[in-house]
Order: sequence, then C-alpha cells, then structure tokens
Amino acid sequence: MSAQGKHLSIHGHFYQPPREDPWMDAIFPEGSAAPALHWNERICRESYAPLAFARRLDGEGRIIEIMNCYEFISFNFGPTLLTWMERHAADVYDRVLEGDRKSLARLGHGNAIAQIHHHVIMPLATDLDKRAEIAWALADFEARFKRPAEGMWLSEAAVDTRTLELLAQAGVRFTILAPRQAKQVADMGRDNWTGADEGNLDIRRPYLVELPEGRSIAVYFYDGPLSQAVAFEGLLRHGDRFWGRLSSLAGEGLLALATDGETYGHHFTFGEMALAFALSQGRAGVDGVRLSNYAAFLAENPPARRVRIHERSSWSCVHGVERWRSDCGCNAENKPGWNQRWRGPLREGLDAVKARIDRHYLGLGAGLFADPEDALVRYGRVLAGLDSEAAFAARHFKKRLTAEQRHTAWRLLSMQKWALSSFASCAWFFDDLGRIEPLNALTFCLRAMQIGMRTGLEDLEPLLLSHIGKASSNDPALGSGHDLWTHEVRPRRESTETILAQALIRLWAEGALPGAGQTASVDWPGLAVELRAAGRDADGNLHGHATITWSRESGSDECQWTWELPGRGDPLAGCVRTGEGLGAKCVPAAYLAWGKRQALAVAWARRAEAEAWERQVEETRLGAHLFLPYREAQTTQTVSERWGRYWSALAWQWIMGEVTASRDLQDFLRERGAAHPERGLLALRVGESLTELLAAEAPEYAAIRGILERAAQVGVAPDLRQAQNLFWARLLTDGPAREAGLALGFAPGVLP
Ligand SMILES: [Zn+2]
Repeated sequence: MSAQGKHLSIHGHFYQPPREDPWMDAIFPEGSAAPALHWNERICRESYAPLAFARRLDGEGRIIEIMNCYEFISFNFGPTLLTWMERHAADVYDRVLEGDRKSLARLGHGNAIAQIHHHVIMPLATDLDKRAEIAWALADFEARFKRPAEGMWLSEAAVDTRTLELLAQAGVRFTILAPRQAKQVADMGRDNWTGADEGNLDIRRPYLVELPEGRSIAVYFYDGPLSQAVAFEGLLRHGDRFWGRLSSLAGEGLLALATDGETYGHHFTFGEMALAFALSQGRAGVDGVRLSNYAAFLAENPPARRVRIHERSSWSCVHGVERWRSDCGCNAENKPGWNQRWRGPLREGLDAVKARIDRHYLGLGAGLFADPEDALVRYGRVLAGLDSEAAFAARHFKKRLTAEQRHTAWRLLSMQKWALSSFASCAWFFDDLGRIEPLNALTFCLRAMQIGMRTGLEDLEPLLLSHIGKASSNDPALGSGHDLWTHEVRPRRESTETILAQALIRLWAEGALPGAGQTASVDWPGLAVELRAAGRDADGNLHGHATITWSRESGSDECQWTWELPGRGDPLAGCVRTGEGLGAKCVPAAYLAWGKRQALAVAWARRAEAEAWERQVEETRLGAHLFLPYREAQTTQTVSERWGRYWSALAWQWIMGEVTASRDLQDFLRERGAAHPERGLLALRVGESLTELLAAEAPEYAAIRGILERAAQVGVAPDLRQAQNLFWARLLTDGPAREAGLALGFAPGVLP
C-alpha cells in the first residue's frame, strides 16, 4: 500500500470491566443488566454481535448483505472479554477471529491489535506489573489470533515513556494515542522540535518515539473532532452522513478514527448499520478512499517525523492520569454535591496491598522459581494456553520441589493474577466508590489476599482498611469504604462450605441431586466439585464426601459434608456443615452473595420452565384436536380463559406443522397472541428451531418456508437473527432455495 492516496482506518476499542468472580472464574448475574444475565451478555447482544453480523438493507428493509464489520475496521478486544465470548458467544467470537484472518489476507496485516491485559493504567503500575500486563496481553493475542500482535492498545491511552520502552522491548511496533498527547514534533535526524497540539498536529502519518534505551516505537494519533462526533454527537444516525464526513475529511495519508467499540449498537442503536454502510463505501473505493489498518499503513509508510509525548497522559482525563487516583474533576455524570475523593484511598490501599504481595511473591518465590520475575511475566502463556502447566513448571520451577512447594508456587501465581485484576482502570473511572467496579476491584484484592494467606502471607485486611476506611461513598446509606468492605465485599469470600452449598443447590435446582452411593460433579471455570452422597442421616439430611479442585493449582481439597435442610424446604434457608466436633462449621446458604444466589435461581427457573414447556407441548399435541370449530353465532372458544393459558404451546403446534388448525383456532391464536406475555419466548423458540433446521446438512427449505408462513398467519414474528446469519453463510457456499430466502427477509437480488 503506497503512501499515495486517501486511506481510512476506523478503530474500535472493545472492552468490558473484569466481571468474573475470582473464586469461580465465572460471571454471575448483575441485576442492572436484567433481563440479560449480566452486562457482557447484554452488550454482546447490542453491539459485538450486531457488528459481527451487520445487516445492510435495501429501500424496502430487505437484507442485501450480512457484513462482518471486524473484517474492515481496526480493533482490539480485552482478553477477559474474549475469554467470556469464546465460552458464551462462540459465533461472535469466530467472526472476530475471521475478521482478523480475512484482513490479513487482504492487506497483508491483520485488523486486530492487542490490549493491556487487565486494562490497568500503565503509568501508575510498577515495572514488574507493566511487564506482566504486556507479556500476558501478547500471549493471549497470539493464542487467539495465531500470530504475534503488531500493535497494542493502551488502557485509556494512558502512556509514559517507560511503557513505550517496554512495549518496544516486547516487539510491539505501534500504539494509538489522542492528538493532545503529543507534546513536540521534529523531523527525523534534526532537532527542530516545535510544540504540538491538537490544532497543528498532522495526524495522517505515524510518528516515531525514540526511547532512552535506543529502541523506538511508532505512534498514531487519531482524529479527535471526528472521533468525538462519532462517539458523542450522533454522527451514526445516518450511514450516508457518516460516510460523507469520512470521505470529506480523507486526504493524502491515513484518516484515523478511534472510539469505544460499544459506540456502535450499544450507545447508538443501529450504529452498526451506519458503520456497515460506510465500510461498504470504503470497500468499493467510493470517492477514492481505501480502507486500511494501522499495521498495513505503517509497513508502507514508516514514520517521517519524530514526536515527544506528554508523560502520564491519557485520552479521557485532561489532567493526565489523575482520574485513576484523585478527585481531579473528571467524572461520568457530574452529580451536584458529589466528589471523587475516594479515588485516592482506593489507589493507595490497593497499591499498599500489592507492594506486600510482591514482596511475599519475590521472597517466597526465590526458593520456588528459577527466576520469580520471569516466571510471573511468562505465566500469561499458561493462562493463554500457549504453554502447558507441565512445560511451564519444567522451565520455571526449581528442580526437586516437593508436592507442597509446587502447590505453593501455583498459588503464588494465582495470587498475582487476581492482584493484577484489582487494578483494572474502571474502578476509578466512574463517580462512586459504591459502584460495581470499585467493589469488584476490592473483591479481586480480597481473593489475592486470601490465596496469599494460604501461602503464609500475613492478613493484609487491616492494611487495606487503613486506607479505604478513609474513603466514603457519596450515598450516605452505603457509608465508608470500611462499611462497603464489611457489607458488600467480605461476604463474597468463598469457603469450602459456601462452594459446597452452591454445588448442592445447583444440583437440586437442576433436578440432579445424587442419590445414596452416587456421585455428581459441578464445574465452574475456576474450580470443579465432585460430590459423593453417602446417604441420609437420622434427621433426613443428605451427607457425603467432596473433592474441590482449583483450576491452575495442583492438588485438591477433600472434606466430609452434611446438607442441613430444615424440613427439606427452601434451599437457601439450609446450610452446609463440614468437619466434626469443635472444628465443625455450618454456613447458611442465605449468606451467599446476591449474584450467586441469583445464578442458582436462574438454574431453577430454566429447568422448571423447560419441563413445564415440555409438558404443555405434550398435552397440546392431542388437546389441539379438541379445539372445536365455533357454532352459529359463537365468537370465542368455550372456557377460552383455560385455552388461553395454552396459547404458547398451541401456537407452537400449529407453527411447527404438528397439527392442522381450523380457521377458528388460527383466529384465536392471533387474537390471544397480540399481547401475550409469552410472545417473546415463543419467537425465540421458533427462531431456534429454524436455526436448527438450517444447520442440517441438506436443510428442508420447504419446511422452513412453511414455518415462517404459518407463524405470519397467527401474527408471530420469530427471532430470525441466527437463522438469517446461517442462511447467509450457506448462501455464499451452497446457494440455497430462493423461496426460503425471501421468507427469511432477504432481497430477491442477492438470492440465486
Ligand atoms: Zn481528570
């Protein structure tokens, strides 16, 4: 790609705060995202998925293309977000990987760049943490995208020279900053330094930062006003207006735009469609603009000028990096009377704990690791799956360690992992200490301290509280940092009893409790529980033996348990007892954190609803034949309220072609369905079965069309997104039936 011509690179920074529970390593329900389980799921549905499968429509609202936007934009995803996506939104995840692969084939350089692993504010991190964050990010990237990363997104674009030095040392070739982070520019080899600012900086070329140890790194600056207009001024409302602005601003060189990726679809509903339109224009070379990415442009256009950056600057705090450690005045909502003085004590408390954890790690680790610092930096390769645990141990553990020493070594690394998580920038970004992000940061810290204690570290809770006790929520009801710790954070701490309570209640909720002599297992990504039920004691309480195995630790915890469930009633009213005599402990399940109780409730609701649905479908398979045609002046079914309760299953039988329906039944289904509370669920179910039919090796297109026609006849609009995605994928390879495509909402012009 030559320097000549107009190039465009649209960058999306896709990221969610770490939400995973540091014991289970899974994400638990977050009430504010309901009815979605949590914000990852909700934003995936609103933004990440729509971008992976962006609809381009004709004038009549019919689909002319389903575009994978990741193929045409530059992007980075947070490693913790991708971990979730890989497990729970595999189709979207595959498109992210495909987007990189196809752009690599097209441009010679992939669209994806890496991102600082835990999204920590790099200038505020220690040198060792900086190195770990970079190395873990690069390992995660390589494991997913099967190539080394060329660029790195810095959390909040927060930068200092040391960070750039370490990036260059790790082989990273470029990063992207806000234009106001440039301080001075000069020509190559000349010391004609002049002051730079957003107004006079030529952003159409990469710059070179020369580093103290002799290395250098390229820096791109994005177009500030344009990015602002996309993120905050509604430029995404109309695809043609968006493209018009891009095209008019594009000139000789690279027009670079960077925003949070969630801008598309989450902050602006249908923003992904405006983006898809603009990308289709760029892809076609309209107005002479060509789509590129930073790495591809850099390969052909090495920096011709040098830049010096503002030390400790960022893209979202005009005071540098103060937003992540003080009441600098930057906040999200600017509520009258509120302050962010809590940020200082939170930073100081977590820093103080981390300093003690590091000392413990390096001290104890000196006897366990060949080189403790190197082991920590390389541990990201185990987390990413690039190195097996055995290979890692062989390389980094000292020779001839006892089993107990090996357990300790793995625990020290886990401790560091959660300690690093506690520094995700989001904890300080928003307006109050009582929000979910600071509480999560403190929870990660709690977990790190707990693992530390298992390896002989003293209790650091008093140290942490001496700092966060000085902080207060703006909500008097939430109180001080000390109160929040006591009421919100500390109760999240898991013990053997709470883990067993969750395993037992989940098995109960799923109708899978083991009987006497039977074994059942419950897994979370962070740990696995194997329960062996021995039988019931004199009070009728189930009891048995359990093995708890933590991921990425060697060894297991074993114990005897009794599930005390008074009257075998409300499972949350019971408790799990372990041990005997004086050492016995009994923890009530009601003490479980809200998200964990909610997860158990979700397991129950899913199983109970699925069983009820199966029963209804079974009942109505025959019952539908008894929906007799109306007589004479009859206007509704006899005992229609009772029939109405079966609306969903009756409609299902008709739509799926299981029964034939009289005109009267069809009318009844349409009338009852207009405002029926199960409409959404039925739309989802019909959509799922269409997807299943389309996934068959030789789909029965006539059956698919029939389902869509009958659904339309009774006014049910199935959720077609997945089915359309699948049909589109098949269309590009098999060229399936035209009629089914029309029924699924595609424009005639794109069908065979
Ligand atoms: Zn600020």
